[in-house]
Amino acid sequence: MKNITVIGSGTMGNGIAHLFALQGFAVALVDLSAEQLTKAVATISKNMDRQINKGTLSEAEKAAALQRIQTHTDLASGVKHADLVVEAATEKVDIKLELFSQLDQLAPANAVLASNTSSISITQIAAVTQRPTQVIGMHFMNPVPVMKLVEVIRGYATSDEITTQIMQLSLQLDKVPVEVQDYPGFVANRILMPMINEAIYTLYEGVAGVSEIDTVMKLGMAHPMGPLQLADFIGLDVCLSILRVLHDGFGNPKYAPCPLLVNMVTAGFKGAKSGEGFYSYPAGTKDYPVSPRFSK
Ligand code: NAD
Repeated sequence: MKNITVIGSGTMGNGIAHLFALQGFAVALVDLSAEQLTKAVATISKNMDRQINKGTLSEAEKAAALQRIQTHTDLASGVKHADLVVEAATEKVDIKLELFSQLDQLAPANAVLASNTSSISITQIAAVTQRPTQVIGMHFMNPVPVMKLVEVIRGYATSDEITTQIMQLSLQLDKVPVEVQDYPGFVANRILMPMINEAIYTLYEGVAGVSEIDTVMKLGMAHPMGPLQLADFIGLDVCLSILRVLHDGFGNPKYAPCPLLVNMVTAGFKGAKSGEGFYSYPAGTKDYPVSPRFSK
């Protein structure tokens, strides 16, 4: 594989483009607007500067990597030469199904179509294409250049050959791939989201406060970040929608989202990206106090 097309240049798409470009692949980065793509390339450049400051990247390597990234607003020209497409567009089923049906028409017949979805069924995505054996999940973690894991999700029809190829490619990217089957939440979110939901229930029921819950999990379980702060960084709306996928997919009440989470998302308190969740996120500082709503 030489030519990689990344669809969507938001948080994950720019990280995925960054990773592939640094590893020497030609990257076509596709998004809906030129403004978004300009912003994404500026973010990639800024993130590479961080690596330069840490001494893990040279200016020349950065320049060469940026040269390997071409941007496109036209899907057809973006996927024309793709060996692999990694889709990292907005997490909405209708967007993904429409995209994969177009990708199937536009990408070369032998191209592998991967999705970075956190929770949408790979089997469902594959079913809208004429090449379900070549559709797979490649679930990178945020921030992509830093996090080692790639959850490689086999759809019901994904072939052994394509799975092996994507596992090997992930190793080539210096990641650690883990092969999992396509069931709701895969592995990462099936385990993480119930923990986050339980932390929110613990707060909701008044068992302990925000910083107490996070401290127990940080110091007691050696988690680098408490579950409530992690939920804020993931986005409370994202947590809610993944819990709904688990709840719908398994039909088991143990996945029912905590009413407090539902209320917060409905009221627009989505965590770090909206400025407030369980903590407050004032601009210009990394000192995040517990939200006044939850401080005693
Ligand atoms: P984001 O909202 O930051 O970016 C999505 C981008 O996709 C936007 O720039 C949007 O303009 C673009 N887009 C939407 N429809 C498009 C289309 N038809 N064609 C081209 N571009 C289109 O989202 P994100 O956080 O980067 O998430 C992207 C995917 O990665 C989702 O499937 C999400 O579940 C998954 N994911 C996210 C995280 C995370 O921590 N944010 C972690 C793992 C996986």
